[in-house]
Amino acid sequence: MLKTVEVNKKAMFETQNFNLWYGEKQALKNIDISIHEKEVTAIIGPSGCGKSTYLKALNRMVELVPNVRMTGKVIYDNKSIFDPSVTVEQLRTQVGMVFQKPNPFPKSIYDNIAYGPKIHGIRNKMILDEIVETSLRNAYLWDEVKDRLHENAYRLSGGQQQRLCIARCLAIDPRVILMDEPTSALDPQSTLKVEELIRTLKEKYTIAIVTHNMQQAARISDRTAFFLNGEVVEFAETAHIFNNPSDKRTEGYVSGQFG
Ligand code: ADP
Ligand code: MG
Repeated sequence: MLKTVEVNKKAMFETQNFNLWYGEKQALKNIDISIHEKEVTAIIGPSGCGKSTYLKALNRMVELVPNVRMTGKVIYDNKSIFDPSVTVEQLRTQVGMVFQKPNPFPKSIYDNIAYGPKIHGIRNKMILDEIVETSLRNAYLWDEVKDRLHENAYRLSGGQQQRLCIARCLAIDPRVILMDEPTSALDPQSTLKVEELIRTLKEKYTIAIVTHNMQQAARISDRTAFFLNGEVVEFAETAHIFNNPSDKRTEGYVSGQFG
């Protein structure tokens, strides 16, 4: 189940000495980790330790919160995400996000997927049809919805809605997918489906996933970062974190002593 990572995979994201404050409160301290290409990186740690903040810093969503201040570096594909030559829109096109609660638009299944490509100027019906089908296939949802594409997405089950949100993210052809506890609102069976999907998606995409579920991190990730009180206690190959952690606090957390 646990596997060893390839050494040569390049870092898609690198955070160097990265700090973030909400007003007076420091939520991230000296974060130095990287998210490697075509791997799954798990971010674990107790509630309030800064996992979501870290993920939202990567696609600059955190800046929607007033009074956020940051220092240090976030490098994406060898360039600072704050470089004026990169717009937030460009960054978010390449770095998609999936949230804890499935959040489909109140539109048809088809329109949920076609929405992003349309915003990017694609109008041709044949091309849109193709993107919708491919995205739904790649999210393992096509067979379940192909005969009801024009039904409202709210009629899908929670697990299907979450796979729809992943398909919606794939439709804009991202390179990185950030997932913030994507299965915590799902039943065990839907959770396993989404996990299986994540395992196949990493052949093409780079994935960072926040999870509260330690077994999930062990099952699907290549590397794991353990956050505590806004700091990274340990960042290593997942097998190392779970079988042979270097820090006592990591050991305590992964063995369920707190959190
Ligand atoms: P996690 O995802 O690990 O539960 P978060 O990143 O959501 O943690 O939060 C980290 C810390 O930052 C917490 O103390 C939280 O209260 C604080 N925080 C999160 N979002 C905001 C916000 N919008 N404004 C002020 N403080 C926030
Ligand atoms: Mg969170």
